[in-house]
Parts: sequence; structure tokens; C-alpha cells
Amino acid sequence: MAIQNVREIPVLIVGGSLVGMSTALLLGHHGVRALAVEHHRGTAIHPRAAQITQRTMEVFRTVGIEQIIRRKSEQQFVQDGAIMAVETLAGKELAWFISNLNEGIRDVSPTERVFISQSLLEPLLKAKAEELGAELRFGTDMVSFEQDATGVTAVLRHRDTGETETIRASYMVAADGAHSRVRGQLGIGMRGRGAFSNSVTIYFRANVEPLLRGRNLSVIYVSNATLRGFLRFEKPFDSGFLAINALGDPKNPITDVSTGLTEERCLEWIRVALGDNDIPVTVDNVMPWKAEADVADRFREGRVFLAGDSAHVMPPNGGFGGNTGVQDAHNLAWKLALVLSGSTGEGLLSSYESERRPVGEFTAEQAYSRYVTRTAPYLGTEGIQAVANDLDVEVGYCYGDPNGVHENPRESRGRPGTRAPHVWLDEREGVSTLDRYGRHFVVLTGSVDKGWTEGASAIAQAFGIPVNVHTLDKAALCDAHGISSSGALLIRPDGFVGWRTKAAVKDPAAELSAAMNAALRR
Ligand SMILES: Cc1cc2nc3c(=O)[nH]c(=O)nc-3n(C[C@H](O)[C@H](O)[C@H](O)COP(=O)(O)OP(=O)(O)OC[C@H]3O[C@@H](n4cnc5c(N)ncnc54)[C@H](O)[C@@H]3O)c2cc1C
Repeated sequence: MAIQNVREIPVLIVGGSLVGMSTALLLGHHGVRALAVEHHRGTAIHPRAAQITQRTMEVFRTVGIEQIIRRKSEQQFVQDGAIMAVETLAGKELAWFISNLNEGIRDVSPTERVFISQSLLEPLLKAKAEELGAELRFGTDMVSFEQDATGVTAVLRHRDTGETETIRASYMVAADGAHSRVRGQLGIGMRGRGAFSNSVTIYFRANVEPLLRGRNLSVIYVSNATLRGFLRFEKPFDSGFLAINALGDPKNPITDVSTGLTEERCLEWIRVALGDNDIPVTVDNVMPWKAEADVADRFREGRVFLAGDSAHVMPPNGGFGGNTGVQDAHNLAWKLALVLSGSTGEGLLSSYESERRPVGEFTAEQAYSRYVTRTAPYLGTEGIQAVANDLDVEVGYCYGDPNGVHENPRESRGRPGTRAPHVWLDEREGVSTLDRYGRHFVVLTGSVDKGWTEGASAIAQAFGIPVNVHTLDKAALCDAHGISSSGALLIRPDGFVGWRTKAAVKDPAAELSAAMNAALRR
């Protein structure tokens, strides 16, 4: 391919949905200009993902959009709802998995789990990404690409005008979804449970408020002799969707739901799920999708990275898919920024796959376990992972930790490889320790500075990378981070602990330098 008259850009992102947009936003936050191209002519029209975890909200808090997301979410959903199961909405309750989305978890984070659908969230991400310098092009396809030792050359085509443009990017992020063509072209396979249902989501209108009977329900699993799936409703409870994974005999169901669909069948299923034959219902839209749990064999090929559904697909049970994708973007953005600025070498980028792939694998399995136990017992529970605590999956995922890929975030207490814990620095003002992280490395010291401030300046100078220092001035804060008053931690820009010493060391600059080398994979 001749490289002439091409536009150069540091990062090209293929796909401008939840994960592509988050990648553009987080790169912008780190001062990297990105171009995201999206086939659709605008942000998401279907609600899809709605359960946003505390960890994802922490990421959004870092870039200053937590509050606007929370305000917007109130317009759409009553927050703090339950996740439960029924035979029909009007009928028998079968199980309560979570009775209140935020009960018992508020202590681990300065923020909360939020329900807001992609259709409302994506415009907020878009506005902030553009404010931070990202270029987002809708109605544009990335039609072909090639990579060589120094970059990726890609051809873009505008869908309406047919005009094409060649882009030369240092790196490309494929956030192009479950059917990723970039992944296909790179010859990267998927491994896992495979596809287990041709599911559908039926978007419909019906006044369901009387059937809710005052219950605040975020996700309602439906399980009866006709169908298995889940319901979700938006304020003012006159619209929502029914996702159906299986039909008929629960022991031997039909899992190809999307073939031969008619409006009549959709209406019939909605009425069965609601348990009410008389309620007026109109179908707005039907979206087919595959329920599957698979992870890409590799998350990187040369200068191309897979993120989001292109890297891992999982059933929606647990609400993990989109969140895991945002966390991919969060892991990758600061690394790309440091490498692009020349502050460190390519080695840092290899940690993207070694850190994110095990988490993707674990999370997809957890979603599968929830799918089997809540929706599809006929698949059999033999060989599936035990359902872990949702909080451990959402916030307690770990990187390179010999103890495993997840734990209760209350127990990590500053251990390297885990997310640095949240502790209020000023609870009245709502200032968390997490508010100190997000852009640069931070040396977090105990109250007795045994040369840590000097050591931090020394490594900042030696590495040419800004390093902030923050002192934990109370014993309880030190304790929450597993250090004595003379210890210290090196926190990465993504808020993960890179290194820790519980007490003072002889040569802080030398120790910090070694820790920084390791964190940068030098
Ligand atoms: C019913 C349902 C409920 C769900 N609920 C939740 C939930 O509560 N919480 C959660 O975290 N997850 C949930 N998920 C999963 C979540 O929707 C996905 O994980 C998430 O949308 C993945 O985002 P993505 O950006 O990686 O991929 P996608 O949303 O699939 O976006 C990929 C984008 O790339 C574009 N694209 C592809 N190829 C090209 C190209 N060559 N050029 C230009 N553009 C291209 C596509 O147009 C598309 O918009 C749910 C899923 C479903 C089906």
C-alpha cells in the first residue's frame, strides 16, 4: 500500500460504541489525540448495557463525569433496584439475587453502582471525549488495514458519501465488538464455552407499573414453561425490554430464539413474561444476539490491541461485559500515552494482555456461571466456576497476583497487583484516596517521610515521568494500605498498586527506581 497523502494520528480506534468511546475519552485524559470511527451514524440507539459497576464509575470519576452520569441515570431508572427472578412479573417470585444494588458495598468506593443505559451514557462519554481532544467520526467504516514495524495504515470510508481516506496511526485499538473483523483479519481465535443461544432482545411498550406492585426491580429474570430470559424497565415504567435465551421445556429447551420471529410471537412472549394477557403491548424493535462466553487467544498483535467485546464476549448475566471493556480501555490508555510520549519502551504494552486476558477469562466464566444457574440449568453445573461475589468480580480483579485474579477488595489492603483501596481523606467534602490517582504515578507514603519525597523526585527526574507524592497522615490510613507510618507504595496511573514496602528502606530512591522499572516493564 502506497503511503502518500495520509493523515497521521497517534491512535486509531475502530468502533465508537461503549468501549471505543471510553478508549477515546481515556486517551484524551492522558493527552493522546485519538480518532474513533463508528459504522453507525450516531451513539447507541438500543439501551443494552445499563449496570455500571463501582469500578467503572471510579474510572468515570477520574475524568470528571461521575456526577453528570449519576444525575442522568436518575432520569432513566430508579436506582438501587433489585436483581431477582420470577415465574412471571405478575406471578410467583422465585429468587432474590441482590435485593438492593448498592446495599453493603458503599464502604469500598467513593461512588456507587449506577443503572444507566448505553443510549444515555454514550452521549455523555462522547461530549467529554471531544472536550479532551478526541475526534469521533460516525457513519464511517474502517474498511481495511495493514501494519508494519512503525505503524498501522488504515482506509476509512464514509458511508453516505463513499469518500475514502487513508490514516496512518502509531497504534490501533479494535473496539469493534463481538464479531470483530479486525480480530478475524489478525487470525486471532476465540476460546471458551462457545455460543449457547441465539437470543433476542425485544424492546416494547406497555404500562407495567401495576405489575411491579411498588417493587424496585433493576433486572428481573423470567423462568417458566414458555421462556427463559430477563426483563428490564425504564421510568416511567411504560417501556423496557425482554431478552429471551431459551424457549419451551426447561430441561430440553429451544435455544434458537431468533429464527422465524414474528411480531405475534414477540407479543405472545411479552405477555407470558408479564403474566398478563390484557395489558396493551406494542413491539418497538427486536435485536438478535448470541449468548456466548469466549475470550480471544491474544489481545494484541503487533500494533493492534483488542478491547471490549472484540477481546471477550460473555452473556449479560451479572452485567459485566461492557464494564470489563471499559476497564480494558483504562488499563491500556495510560500505557499507550507513556509509550507514545517516548517516556518508556514498547515493553509496557505487553502487560496489557498479560493483565487483562486473565481478568477477561475469569469474568466471562463468572457470567457463564450466572447464565447456567439463573437461566439455563440444562447446560449443567459440572465444571463451572462457583459464582463469586459480584463485588469481587467488579472491583476486586487483580493483575499478576499469585493469589488469583479476584478477591474481596476489602482484603487487598494495598497489596501489589490490586486496586489501591478507597479511604476517605475528607468524607464531608467527598474526597477519596482514589481522587489522588488517575493521571500520573503516585508515591503514597506513610506519615513519617523516610526519604520518600526525595526518592520520588529522583525517579521523576531519572525517568522523565511526573511522579506525585501523597502522604497518609493517619495511622488508620497507613493500615488500610498495609504499611507502617514509614512505609510507601507506588501507585500506577490506573490506581493499581505497582509496589509496596511496609516499612522504611535504606535507599528509597534505589527501591523506587527498581519499582518504576518493573512497573514500566523495562
Ligand atoms: C441485552 C443486553 C444487556 C446487557 N447488559 C449489560 C450490562 O448491564 N452491563 C454491562 O457491562 N454489559 C452489558 N451488556 C454487554 C454490553 O452491551 C457489551 O459488552 C458492550 O456493548 C460492548 O461494547 P463494545 O464497544 O466492546 O462493542 P459494541 O457495543 O458491539 O460496539 C462495537 C462497535 O464497533 C462498530 N464497528 C465494528 N466494525 C467497525 C468498522 N470496521 N468500522 C467502524 N465501526 C465498526 C460497530 O458499529 C459497533 O457500534 C449487555 C448486552 C446485552 C445484549
